[in-house]
Amino acid sequence: MNTQDLGVRLKVRLWNRVPIRLGLGVLLITWAALGLAFLLFNSRQEQLFTEQHVLAAKKESLVIASNLARQMLAGGGWDVWNAISAEAVQYRDLTDAGNIRVVTGDGVVKAASDSAAVGSRMAVKNNPDCPHCDSARPEDFPAVATISGAEGKWLRVVNAVPLAQDCVRCHDAKNPPRSFVSIDYDLAPLERQAAQRREDLLLTALIAGFLVMALTALLFRLLVMRSVDAIARSANRLASGGLAARANVLGKNELSLLAHDFNHMAERIQQQVARIAAAHTESDLLYTLVVEASKNLETSEVAAGVARVLREKLRPKQVALFLESGESSWTCSTCSANTDEKTVSGDGVLQEAVDSGTGQWRAALAAIPQSMVTQACRTQKLQLVKSADGQSFVLPVIADTRLVGLLACVGIPAEIVLSEDLLQNLGVHLTLAAINSRNYTGAITDGLTRLKNKRYGLSRLDETVYAARRYGLPLGLLMCDIDHFKQVNDTYGHPAGDAVLREVSRRIAACVRKADIAVRYGGEEFMLILPETDVNLLAVVGQKIRQAVAAAPVDLGSIGVSLPLTISVGVAALHPGSDSGETLIARADAALYRAKAGGRDRVELER
Ligand code: GH3
Ligand code: MG
Ligand code: MG
Repeated sequence: MNTQDLGVRLKVRLWNRVPIRLGLGVLLITWAALGLAFLLFNSRQEQLFTEQHVLAAKKESLVIASNLARQMLAGGGWDVWNAISAEAVQYRDLTDAGNIRVVTGDGVVKAASDSAAVGSRMAVKNNPDCPHCDSARPEDFPAVATISGAEGKWLRVVNAVPLAQDCVRCHDAKNPPRSFVSIDYDLAPLERQAAQRREDLLLTALIAGFLVMALTALLFRLLVMRSVDAIARSANRLASGGLAARANVLGKNELSLLAHDFNHMAERIQQQVARIAAAHTESDLLYTLVVEASKNLETSEVAAGVARVLREKLRPKQVALFLESGESSWTCSTCSANTDEKTVSGDGVLQEAVDSGTGQWRAALAAIPQSMVTQACRTQKLQLVKSADGQSFVLPVIADTRLVGLLACVGIPAEIVLSEDLLQNLGVHLTLAAINSRNYTGAITDGLTRLKNKRYGLSRLDETVYAARRYGLPLGLLMCDIDHFKQVNDTYGHPAGDAVLREVSRRIAACVRKADIAVRYGGEEFMLILPETDVNLLAVVGQKIRQAVAAAPVDLGSIGVSLPLTISVGVAALHPGSDSGETLIARADAALYRAKAGGRDRVELER
C-alpha cells in the first residue's frame, strides 16, 4: 500500500457491509429451510393420505369381497352385482371415496357406485390407470396409482378380491375367477391443502425471513460491528498521526480483548514515537549546539551562538546563557522569540552575579523566578518546571563543582519533548564549551581592560594585512596613547591609573565596529585594526576616539576625583604593495609621535 494511503478512511459500500451480507445470507437460509420443510411436510401429507386411503380401500374391498362371496354362494345372478353396487353407493356417500368399481379379471365392470359404469370395460393389460390389474400375485395388492382426468386427480386403490374355497364349487378350480375392487379418492382436497400451505408459507417466509434478517443484522451490529467500528476508527486516527487515539472497550467479550490489545499497542506506539522524537530533538539540538559552539571560541560569541540555537530548537519565550569569560568576568547572552540576542558582560565572579538577581540580565529573565536560579546554583542541579503555560528550566553549568555557566529557558511549548536526560547532556556540552571558551578568551584578552592582548592583536594584524593585500581591500591601523598618563599614576596611585585605563578602554571599544579589533598594545597604548575601512574614514574614527576620551572627565569614584583626560592618535592606511604588519605599526607610531610632538590631544594621519 502506498504510504499516502495511510489514514485515508476507505468507504465500505452498503452492499458490502458485513451485517447486510450476513442478514441476506440468513434470509436465504431461512427461505431454503422453510421451502425444504414445506416439501417434506407435503410429501408426508401425501404419504399419510395414501396410507389412510389404501387402508380404508383395503378394508372396504375385503367387505365387498366377503359380501360378494357370501351372496354368490347364496344364489348369484345380477341381483348380487346390484346389491354390491348399492353397497358401493352407500360406502361412497358415507366416506370420502369417489368411484367404486368391482371389475372382473378381463376388465368388465360388474358393479359400481356409478351405475353408468356398470357393464363397461377397463383395459387391464399394462394400463397405468389400472395398476397390477393383469397380475395374479397377491403381494402386488393393494396397488396404487394417481390418475388424472378432466374431472381432476384421483388416487386409485386397486385390491384383488381374494378367492374363497367355496368359489370352486361353481367356478373352474383350474381357471379360478379373478376380480378387483377399485376405489378412487379425490386428490383435490389434498391439493387444496397444499396450495393453502404454499400461500401460508410464502407469507411466513416473507415476514419471518425479513424479520430474521433484520434481527440478525441488528444483533451483529450490536455485538460485533460496534466494537469493530470503534477499533477501526481508532486505527484510522492512529494511522493519520493521532497517536492519542484509543478504542472504546465495549462489553466483556473477545472484541473487548481486541480493543484492549489495540489500546495497548497504541500506547506502545505513542511511547516509541515520543522516544524517537525525544532522541531526535536531543541529537538535533546537541549536534547544532556543538557545531555552533565550535564555530566560535570567544565566550561572548559562543554564548550568543548557543542562545540562538536554543531559541530556534526549543522555541522558548526567553533564553539567557551566562558563561564565565575569565577569572573574574562573565558574559550573558539573552534573546527572546522575537528579539535578536543581546550580550552583556560584567566583572566579578559569575556565581555572585547570578545570585545577586540584579543587573541588566535580570530584566530579560523576568519570567524566571529568582528562587529557581538560586536553587539551581545552590544544589548545582537542573531545575525543570512543566506547567500548562509551557516548560521552563534553569541548568547550572558546572566544572569541578564551580559554576562556570548558567542556562535559563522560559516558556518552552509543551509539544517540545524536554527530558531531564536531554538537559543533562546539554549541560555536559555547555561545560566543555564554557571551559574551552573561557580558556581561549582568557588567553587572548587583556585582564585589566578586557581588550584583546598584544599577542593576539599582532597575530590578527598579520592575518588582516595578508587578506587585505590578497584581496585588494583597504586596511587602517590606529595607535592611541593617553596623554600624560604617568602623572595619573604619580598623583593618584596605580589603582586610580588602572581605573582610568579601564574607562578609556571602554570608551575606545565603544567607538569601533564589531569587526574591528581593539588591542591593548602596551601600558596606556592601544592599537586598533580596522579592516575594510576606507582611508578617509580612518581619521574620522581617530577623531571619534579622541573626542570620546576628551568629552568627559573620568570619574574616579573611589577617591572622589574626576580626571579630564586626552589621548593622541596616530593613523596609518595600509600600503598594499609595500606594507607588512610591522611597517604599518611603525608608520602609525610615527603619526602618533607627530601627534604627541604637535601638542597631544590630536589625530595625525600617515598616508
Ligand atoms: P605621554 O603623554 O608622552 O604619553 O606621557 P605619558 O606619561 O603618558 O607617557 P609614559 O610612557 O612616560 O608613561 C606611561 C606610564 O604608564 C608609565 C607606567 O607607569 C604606566 N603604566 C603602564 N602600564 C600600566 C598599568 O597597567 N597600570 C597603571 N596604573 N599604569 C601603567
Ligand atoms: Mg606611552
Ligand atoms: Mg602616554
